[in-house]
Amino acid sequence: MSESDFDVIVVGAGCAGATAAYVAASAGMSVLMIERGNFAGAKNMTGGRIYAHALREVFPGFESEAPLERRITHERLALMDAESSFAFDFTSAELAREGADSYAVLRAPFDQWLAAKAEEAGAEAIYGIAVEELVRDDAGRVVGVRAGEDQITAQAVILSEGANPLLSERCLGNPRPKPHQMAVGIKQVLELSSGQIEDRFLLPEGEGASMLFVGDCTHGCVGGGFLYTNRDSISLGLVTTISKAGDASNDTPVYQMLEDFKRHPAVAPIVRGTTVVEHSGHMVPEGGLGMVPEMTFDGCVVVGEAAGLCMNMGYQVRGMDFAVASGRMAAEAVVEAIGRGDTSKAGLAGYRARMEASFVMRDLRTFSNWPATMEGWDTLFSDYPTMAREAMNALFVVDGTPQERLMRRMMPIFRKRGLLRLGREMRGALKSL
Ligand SMILES: Cc1cc2nc3c(=O)[nH]c(=O)nc-3n(C[C@H](O)[C@H](O)[C@H](O)COP(=O)(O)OP(=O)(O)OC[C@H]3O[C@@H](n4cnc5c(N)ncnc54)[C@H](O)[C@@H]3O)c2cc1C
Repeated sequence: MSESDFDVIVVGAGCAGATAAYVAASAGMSVLMIERGNFAGAKNMTGGRIYAHALREVFPGFESEAPLERRITHERLALMDAESSFAFDFTSAELAREGADSYAVLRAPFDQWLAAKAEEAGAEAIYGIAVEELVRDDAGRVVGVRAGEDQITAQAVILSEGANPLLSERCLGNPRPKPHQMAVGIKQVLELSSGQIEDRFLLPEGEGASMLFVGDCTHGCVGGGFLYTNRDSISLGLVTTISKAGDASNDTPVYQMLEDFKRHPAVAPIVRGTTVVEHSGHMVPEGGLGMVPEMTFDGCVVVGEAAGLCMNMGYQVRGMDFAVASGRMAAEAVVEAIGRGDTSKAGLAGYRARMEASFVMRDLRTFSNWPATMEGWDTLFSDYPTMAREAMNALFVVDGTPQERLMRRMMPIFRKRGLLRLGREMRGALKSL
């Protein structure tokens, strides 16, 4: 083992990989981080908001140096049908509290900062080369990687290849994620001056907003829209399940959904006069706990989205905090295992144990039923936004027609959908949330 080229090889320099490389290098390991993009973040995408707690654990004081866009202090959730939007708007000092804070980020600058931290800590980085294979010895143990002509060995490999886990599937035998567990995300970054952002979102100077949308943004398909405010731009996009996006009954391509979303009456005034400066698309694992594969192998651990670690709750989207935390825990376990001279699956078990005790597996477990609930709840994305419009019109419209009491106006709206059915759906949702 001591004849390996490196102590640790990290495949992929996203949130999980760069954090793992930083932690391992900081502990004195020789680390090689291999990234297929020409620079860290070149191929990466996120909606836009990182919950900072996991980052702070690795990089205390990161706020003073990381390329963060805006601290999110305003939350908005909206149900929208084609002509209306029913929004829930929230702001509180608690959202800005250290430990509960979250920030809009753009992946190119953010990932480059994270990778630079790993390099400053002593990790070597190679960009523009894809790892094609995990190299195994005769006993099946991972002993390194093959990239192009080169075979490079290590005592342990940390596999952080992201949402399309080809190496995990081909070389470790982990299952391919099923179509209903995967979503496709599409996003545009739209330039807007900081003053206009603050005016349009009613924000105090420098603060940021997050908006999540359900309904017409995905043409009634399972999924949702998102909008995050950056310093001088906004990130606007949507996510919908791959099975629905490719469904023959759905004749609207995802890019057209985004164009239609931008024209929605609740969104058009926000994006008015903006210029598209970036366009990207990416897959997102949304199967929750049910898609988390084996994470420890002889000589190898799997982290971040390569291990299915992502959660879309509709009101929270989390993947980057899971990636950072799993990268840290993997690196700590690898460092310990190398110290003991045992990087077998049993020797690396500390990774799984740390994960099980942490918020990562505990949150995935708590909300393990939510992905199936959401997938089976078609009406949430189609009929509920219309129901919200009808109910809000009943509440707010005054046109001189003598008014019935509020309950008499509201009840027919709910009754025509079936009170029992609505009750059953709400109970099911509340039980899995
Ligand atoms: C539309 C969308 C919206 C999202 N919104 C949010 C959000 O608001 N908040 C949030 O927390 N999360 C969000 N997520 C999820 C979040 O972006 C991911 O969970 C997170 O980026 C995962 O980090 P990672 O390091 O595991 O993978 P990635 O960041 O994808 O990094 C994987 C890296 O591995 C590299 N790589 C892959 N294969 C190879 C190979 N063979 N050789 C070398 N390098 C390789 C890739 O180029 C990439 O750099 C969103 C995702 C999408 C797509």
